Amino acid sequence: MPEVLHPPRLLFLDLRKRKRAALPALPGLVAVSPNPDGQCAEANAALAVLVAIDGEAAHSDWRQRFHPMCPSDFPHVVLLDPYDPVLARRIVGSDAFDCCAMDDGDRIALIVARLERQPRIACHEVPPGLPLAQLLRLQATVDTLPIPIFIKNRERRYTACNKAFEDFIGLPASEIVGKTVFDIASEEMARVYEKSDIDHLAKGGTQTYETRVRYADGNVRDVIFHKAVFNDSAGQPDGIVGAMLDISERKALEQRLEILAATDFLTGAYNLRTFYELAQHELSRLTRNGGDLALVVMDIDHFKEINDSLGHAAGDEALRQFVAVVKDNLREQDIFARAGGDEFRLLLPETSTDGAYLVAERIRKAVNEILINNPRGFVRLSISCGVAACIGGDETLDHATLCADDALYKAKAAGRNCIYPPPEQGWFPLFPSDENSGPRLLREDLLRED
Ligand code: GH3
Ligand code: MG
Repeated sequence: MPEVLHPPRLLFLDLRKRKRAALPALPGLVAVSPNPDGQCAEANAALAVLVAIDGEAAHSDWRQRFHPMCPSDFPHVVLLDPYDPVLARRIVGSDAFDCCAMDDGDRIALIVARLERQPRIACHEVPPGLPLAQLLRLQATVDTLPIPIFIKNRERRYTACNKAFEDFIGLPASEIVGKTVFDIASEEMARVYEKSDIDHLAKGGTQTYETRVRYADGNVRDVIFHKAVFNDSAGQPDGIVGAMLDISERKALEQRLEILAATDFLTGAYNLRTFYELAQHELSRLTRNGGDLALVVMDIDHFKEINDSLGHAAGDEALRQFVAVVKDNLREQDIFARAGGDEFRLLLPETSTDGAYLVAERIRKAVNEILINNPRGFVRLSISCGVAACIGGDETLDHATLCADDALYKAKAAGRNCIYPPPEQGWFPLFPSDENSGPRLLREDLLRED
């Protein structure tokens, strides 16, 4: 395991044609060969390149030969020897991190301190023989990717990462490299990642999985991890490289499409297709385990009159308000769908017909409170309901639907705003049509008398 270097090293590239001042002593400073294909084991944890030049010629040399190999986001600090204010202004106006006189030790120390406060991604374990320019290019390439990327060694310690991974973890690379996941994630998450890494290193190959992660800024995102084990020259597992693709937008879109496909767009209630799918699960459970399952069919009374008297938009609003009221009165496991027009179906798991009657009655009363208002007047809603029991076995839903439809027909015939059949125990009187039954266009003064 390589040591993490604090402070990170600085590379010194001396391009002066006529050498003069020596660079002030700086901790971790390493001189590198001006040969761009030179070895770069020294580049471990490098923070920046300090480039010494002594005039226009050395500056052009830097721009033409060396700078193209030094990616612009790998900071370079140009040191002038002697100091030339015109050249300094030009350099500061280009992509140099900073520029100052070679013999200005205090200023160089300040620049280095500034670099250390924005530590960049460190690349440890640089394979000997990897040219510096190539390493820098690689680091710059992964830094431009908006996808968090990391490399761990076989001891499962981070050896490198990119900027996006720093943002995800909320730490600079200098505080990630050399650490294990236990140092940077919660104990609970670290255990999961550690186990997954151990298994992966043992099995080799690639791994892809979806999960949710919390970014350092508190954002929770859906991501897909792509990980691969890489081998050493002897063919033994040597570490893991991983990339984390943010798929939150795709997930949200998929969820939205699922909801759109499963629900009625006007009211948000399930559509019939979803109703049958969910009902099938409940029926299988009923056949397997026994118990109760009740079906309630609901239909708004005289709904056509709302459209006719107040307009179609008011009819739509009535449907939406009705569905909101019904949903307020349901449990999570209840399945509520629009069957079409103003007819709805409600499947109540673990509910007897007496229980279903109670639910329907509660909803009926709540629906009676709905007033659809419109510049042309007010309408009070009412519904009629038919209740039936589902019995496990084949075709039970069709049978229950026929029974509930028949009961609904009777409720309509009995004057509407009521539920059929009334419970055998006689808990409730049969609800005859009352003054709230069906929509009537009300004048505002009449409404106040209500
Ligand atoms: P009943 O008490 O017998 O149920 O009388 P009704 O007027 O409610 O009769 P029915 O249930 O047959 O009428 C349903 C009406 O609902 C017919 C249709 O014009 C209207 N309708 C169906 N779908 C929509 C919709 O999406 N929006 C609006 N505004 N009206 C709709
Ligand atoms: Mg109706």
